[in-house]
Amino acid sequence: MTAKISHDIAERILAWYARHQRDLPWRKSLDPYHIWVSEVMLQQTQVETVIPYYQRFLSCFPTVQALASASLPEVLKAWENMGYYARARNLHAAAKEIMKRFQGEIPQTWDDLTALPGIGDYTAGAILSVAFDQSAAAVDSNVRRVLCRLFAVETPLHESRTQQHLWGLAWGLIPIKGTGRFNQGLMDLGATVCTPKKPACVLCPIQDCCRAYKRRLQDVLPVTRKRGPIPHRQVTAAVIWNDCGRVLIARRPNQGLLGGLWKFPGGKQNPGESLATCLRRHVREELGIQVRVRRPITSVNHAYTHFRITLHAFHCAHRAGEPQPLTCADWRWTTLSRLKNFAFSKADRKIICAISSPKGACQD
Ligand code: SF4
Repeated sequence: MTAKISHDIAERILAWYARHQRDLPWRKSLDPYHIWVSEVMLQQTQVETVIPYYQRFLSCFPTVQALASASLPEVLKAWENMGYYARARNLHAAAKEIMKRFQGEIPQTWDDLTALPGIGDYTAGAILSVAFDQSAAAVDSNVRRVLCRLFAVETPLHESRTQQHLWGLAWGLIPIKGTGRFNQGLMDLGATVCTPKKPACVLCPIQDCCRAYKRRLQDVLPVTRKRGPIPHRQVTAAVIWNDCGRVLIARRPNQGLLGGLWKFPGGKQNPGESLATCLRRHVREELGIQVRVRRPITSVNHAYTHFRITLHAFHCAHRAGEPQPLTCADWRWTTLSRLKNFAFSKADRKIICAISSPKGACQD
């Protein structure tokens, strides 16, 4: 592709973006902190879902300093239900590092940004181009799809050679002026016109440059990997009551899928194991106590990216032993009404809803 065609594509994207850009709260700000928070939230979460979380998060932590001064449980509480909690943990860790190494100023170089926890090439490119108006490509899943079609890239999307090729193509397109608007334009084009299924090519500003369109490949590109069946796990959760009417909760270690969140003790069922045996085993391994398993509360289905679970919750009575944090990070006896102050996963929130509701069950 010649420099003139690249220039022409960039100009059309900029003109299209000026007329059709989505009205999003983080677009009203050029504050690098606001842009950083929005970009982290938008990884793996839909725009409509992100908006209220973004507004609430910024009202809780309006500056890098406020975020760095907060405790991790406070940050996780503000992130509760948005999933992919490593993003919140990394955001918090990076804010602390920015306070320590950069006196609270978000760094303005690629190397400094990508050295921070949770900031990869895409986020660095978005912050540099949008907040600091620097020439930097930003290739997210929407941009990847547009580029694969525009240049008819037929190698599988997940392969690293394809990823490198796409970054090279993106760098080749960025204009001298208005890189941030150009990157946002490509993202919006992928989100609203060049969609995963049935792209609206008739509305596309770069249709006559699009190699996939010319070769009628827009419905088969990008080439993605076929997913195998998603494993389904049976998992147990114990709502353990003591004689004072308090409930025992445990905090997960900070690493892993739901790291740092609170939970009801319990875990994955082994083959051939009954749910009651599974519960007693996990409670013993996690907290070193013995419980009596009583009546079932509810069974909750939940899907994560790579697996699904059915979470079976039971009322249990504390029988013996003082809780100790054996495999969990912390534990607490608390009242039903105080559970709302702790950050739980979506599946655990459904159990809380079931034990708080007079009908005993909540919507899945
Ligand atoms: Fe996507 Fe169609 Fe535009 Fe090509 S012409 S970039 S396939 S919307």
